Amino acid sequence: MLEKRVELDAMKVVEIEKCRSDIKKLRGEIASQKHRNFIDDNNKRTPLRDVSSYPKYLLSEETIEALRLPTFDAWQWEPSEMLICLEFMYHDLGLVQDFSINPITLKKWLICIRDNYRNIPFHNFRHCFCVTQMMYSMIGLCSLQEKFTQVEILILMTAAVCHDLDHPGFNNKYQINARTELAVRYNDVSPLENHHCAVAFQIFSQPECNIFSSFDPETFKKIRQETIALILATDMSRHTEIMDTFTQKVNNFDSTDAEHITCLKMVLIKCCDISNEVRPREVAEPWVDRLLEEYFMQSDREKAEGLPVAPFMDREKVTKPSAQVDFITFILIPMFEAVVKLFPQIEEVMVQPLREARDRYEALKHINGTINEVQKKKSENLNMGGK
Ligand SMILES: [Zn+2]
Repeated sequence: MLEKRVELDAMKVVEIEKCRSDIKKLRGEIASQKHRNFIDDNNKRTPLRDVSSYPKYLLSEETIEALRLPTFDAWQWEPSEMLICLEFMYHDLGLVQDFSINPITLKKWLICIRDNYRNIPFHNFRHCFCVTQMMYSMIGLCSLQEKFTQVEILILMTAAVCHDLDHPGFNNKYQINARTELAVRYNDVSPLENHHCAVAFQIFSQPECNIFSSFDPETFKKIRQETIALILATDMSRHTEIMDTFTQKVNNFDSTDAEHITCLKMVLIKCCDISNEVRPREVAEPWVDRLLEEYFMQSDREKAEGLPVAPFMDREKVTKPSAQVDFITFILIPMFEAVVKLFPQIEEVMVQPLREARDRYEALKHINGTINEVQKKKSENLNMGGK
């Protein structure tokens, strides 16, 4: 009996030692993740988790209906639930069936995508989900499956999923001014967007994540080229150039012309990328706070490093309403109005909410202005009284 107890205790000690070393290893991994730099982290690109840990949810009819609309509230969902929704969209659009995508590969790919978005205030996996969900709802609302081939629908959806992969939370201006590894690697030309594409195709290069495995090399090449073109189009420094081209084409749009179609796809992904203000106020507003949080993180670092700071990122210069009014008036509304010329059905569900958001922020800006005036007057009076 005594011998057995001693043996059992010894085994427990061995188990405890094993746990200790596991914890030590895990701590090391966490610490090294914290210090990882922008590019050299190949570990993360490999799918770490087993599919069996992936919970099997069934989406209710109500959720499915909500997913088809720009009013969908992504804040209500956990990352694992967003994965289910994305998976559903690929099935629902017929992409899994039409291109014989292995459903397990689709799951593994999506898990790997989630793991390659960073935990930062704005450009995170939830943003990726929102952009893709907006694309999915636009595909439905604009009946894009009648205008585009299924390969093009696959490209639109996949570019949306991948468009901000491994975003570090500091924009191109910072990358260039701080001469980061990314800026050096891509010669200051859209360093972030180039990086998002590169990470996307590193993920596809792993057979267990390659949802394009059934395509012949020619089609794969086309998918690769167009996905890259769409992700590169999300660089806002190209906004005017892309919109000018689109406005030229939109009045006599020819859906048989490949250039016209590519340009439309670029504008569509751009619309989805910056579509938060199309959503209801309670869904849209937290995104503005998060974007400003990310901007302030950058401008604080720029100030500390003695780099130029953009006024719209400076916590001392920008306010929520002032940031939004100009962005909605000069960027969002004109872009969506151009798209309405081809798809009048989105006027009510997408452009109207934008106008309402603009008016709301305009009113707020006005109120803020008045409050500032009053405060200024008060302190002037106090100063005068002090004299
Ligand atoms: Zn984005």
